[in-house]
Amino acid sequence: MADVPTEAPEHCPGTQSDSAGKASACAGCPNQNICASGATKQPDPGIALVKERLADVKYKILVLSGKGGVGKSTMTSLLARTLAAENSDRNVAILDIDICGPSQPRVMGVVGEQVHQSGSGWSPVYIEDNLSLMSIGFLLSSASDAVIWRGPKKNGMIRQFLSEVDWGTLDYLILDTPPGTSDEHLSATTYLKSAGITGAILVTTPQEVSLLDVRKEIDFCKKVKIPILGIIENMSIFVCPKCKSTAEIFPALTGGGKQMCTEMNIEFLGSIPLDPLLARCCDDGKNVLTEMPDSPSIVALQKIVTRIIDKCEKSTTNLIDHADE
Ligand code: ADP
Repeated sequence: MADVPTEAPEHCPGTQSDSAGKASACAGCPNQNICASGATKQPDPGIALVKERLADVKYKILVLSGKGGVGKSTMTSLLARTLAAENSDRNVAILDIDICGPSQPRVMGVVGEQVHQSGSGWSPVYIEDNLSLMSIGFLLSSASDAVIWRGPKKNGMIRQFLSEVDWGTLDYLILDTPPGTSDEHLSATTYLKSAGITGAILVTTPQEVSLLDVRKEIDFCKKVKIPILGIIENMSIFVCPKCKSTAEIFPALTGGGKQMCTEMNIEFLGSIPLDPLLARCCDDGKNVLTEMPDSPSIVALQKIVTRIIDKCEKSTTNLIDHADE
């Protein structure tokens, strides 16, 4: 891929524009020559590579959140574990592109595992026979390594992840993305467009600060034409593990996720209660489904997964080629 200019001057006409490198604003820009040469207007060959690599992946789902700490990675891991546990013939994988905070190796209990490279690409790490994981966390020598990465480096890494991991045949590929809408989201959606994104699942907590940011995610999905499968409200209520009484930890002063979904005509997939045992299990990398199968969180999760499967199976996005949009 041509290097994407990193320091756009004021009023940059855009790397794809006809006046790229030629406008008066381009004078003095360190990237003027590369833009003027037309190299930045060439289609990125990575897009075709990703399409080819993911040809045997049926459903591709992005998990998004407006804010960090709302449980996006936890939900990603739980969705993947549930999908895989329900049906041993269903192949599920997680791709963790949360470059600055990859938490899937920890949550899935495979911290420190090595990723191997073979002739057919990088082999993901297998948690179960039908559940695999690829994470930037496996490739960094230290957890703080990638924090200072700039856009083009992140873009290159995401392209490699999407085009070089040997997933085999998959039913579900679930992408854990960073919070907000950043370089990683733009890169992932650009590369996945022609492969077809089934949809996005948005995770929020009931507080207005989190809901506000989720509205930005909804706007992002609309702009880049990603269907929204629905919203999961996490940590909605607290269910005491001992006496089972409930309490609202984060009061939904504005009606919470449910009200927002009604207003925005988006499906409310369900609520997951706050459960301290679940947090401990995930922090220890244990399988919550076998450790605490009767937890209200797991019961709620199973209903959400049934709904997601149904939505994916009815989705036609996988059949649409977005390449020309
Ligand atoms: P994010 O990916 O949005 O940054 P995480 O999934 O890493 O958030 O979750 C942040 C913290 O909250 C973790 O310690 C996780 O175990 C905890 N957590 C997430 N969901 C729940 C829940 N439903 N009950 C209890 N703890 C939770």
